[in-house]
Amino acid sequence: MATFAAHPREPVPARVRPRADRGRAPVGDQGRSREHDGPAEAPTGMLAMQRLAGNRALTAAMTTPGALDRLVPGQRHRGAAMLAAADVRARMPGFADLKAAYTDKKLRIPEAVIKTAVTQLLDRMAKEKRLRSKDAAATIVAKIFPAPGVISEAAFNKALDPADRTQIYKTVLDAHTTVKKADRATLKVLMKDAGDLMRTAEGDTAGLKAVFGSQDTVAKARYAAGRAALATAAGDLDKHVTTDYNLDDPETFLGGWAQHSTQLMHLLVGIVQGKDPAESKSTLVHEAAHLGHGSVDDLGYYGTAAFEAMDEAAKVGNAAHYEELPRRLLGTSSFAGHTFTPGIKKGGAAVTRTDTVRKIASDHVQHAWDAASDAHMWLRGVRKAWVTKKDKAPFTADKALILELSKLCDMTVHHQAVAHARLTTLDITIIESVVRAMGIVGSLVDSEPLPSGPLSDKGAADVMVAEATKKYGRLLHDPARDKALVDWLAAHFRTLPGPP
Ligand SMILES: [Zn+2]
Repeated sequence: MATFAAHPREPVPARVRPRADRGRAPVGDQGRSREHDGPAEAPTGMLAMQRLAGNRALTAAMTTPGALDRLVPGQRHRGAAMLAAADVRARMPGFADLKAAYTDKKLRIPEAVIKTAVTQLLDRMAKEKRLRSKDAAATIVAKIFPAPGVISEAAFNKALDPADRTQIYKTVLDAHTTVKKADRATLKVLMKDAGDLMRTAEGDTAGLKAVFGSQDTVAKARYAAGRAALATAAGDLDKHVTTDYNLDDPETFLGGWAQHSTQLMHLLVGIVQGKDPAESKSTLVHEAAHLGHGSVDDLGYYGTAAFEAMDEAAKVGNAAHYEELPRRLLGTSSFAGHTFTPGIKKGGAAVTRTDTVRKIASDHVQHAWDAASDAHMWLRGVRKAWVTKKDKAPFTADKALILELSKLCDMTVHHQAVAHARLTTLDITIIESVVRAMGIVGSLVDSEPLPSGPLSDKGAADVMVAEATKKYGRLLHDPARDKALVDWLAAHFRTLPGPP
């Protein structure tokens, strides 16, 4: 369940099944325009046509909710170790976008609100050692905003590298696009290899029995369905596959997703480019399992607590279990040669109460992360509608919910002049950092001890969640508000709007 590092040394991908962001963005690798808060430049010519056509396809594609795949680190990479990992990140808006929000005469966001938001973002980045400056967040903010109404680009650039997409949020327009021409051949080879691995798994009678038990023939048929779906997707990448060149995904620990009903799949750019070929292939097998059969969900990512002890009915409907036989072939299995037995862990021990409670806590934070990720994709879409078409309708349609969320996680929307309120890039980076925080909390919760005292399993799990949130310590600096945010998100699991 836990989250993290985009490329854990031990390849343990997680994937999400789609929900919100299941549309296909029309913009390809050319013609990206910068987004502004001010008067938007309308997309022109062919690009505009493509975008409009794509938006229609996107709307049509948005039907049922699905599951998102969270990046899961190896067991050894959790908690504090993950915070020190080199590839973790958190981001700020670009200077121009921040200045636009700060100086907008119509929005009239109080300076203190902007400063608080920037302080929180910098603070979360500082926790992960992502800042160029060694100064405390409050000190940096005092330098960026030296006097009322004044904002310093020099101070901003001293704290952050303006050219680094792992530090600066460039544009919502690059975050969901088709695969670039240069990356297509590599991806197709990876997809073919993943399909071959699945075919081999289908023929491995003993292996199917060892992993899926009495559900072996069901699993075999689902491998075949997934393999067929993957081959179809490889035959028309533009129709079936999207990726993210803005790096939103590693930022929010989104590992990708695939949806059976639309046959759409979204992959991390690192997976597309085969940075770690074995990881790309096991990820593609995972997503293919979702594509192939509508009832294959995410009930526990690869290698998470008691993964190998899951009951047979559950694991045949869990995408990560389809990774196991291909991983044995790739040499990346954590369970090579092991026969999975429901209720029994790899070492032979029975599942304990700590395992049970941790699973409840972990699922709760997983749901919060999933909902936060959906919120991020939804709000990003709302902003994109504004940036590309000056379309306020998606904002207006869900304004009450946006305001509720803005208050819960200290975005700026509820502080703006009501008549002109909208989502700024600053708000997008705030929700992005909240998704990221949920991912980190999800990782921390997996090492929480069982609390003492006569608590129900749910009550004990609640304490674990609160403690893990406290250990992260950079959410809202208020344990009650932190917990309220986690619980609100978990309560909105798979119910938030999809992107317009
Ligand atoms: Zn999944």
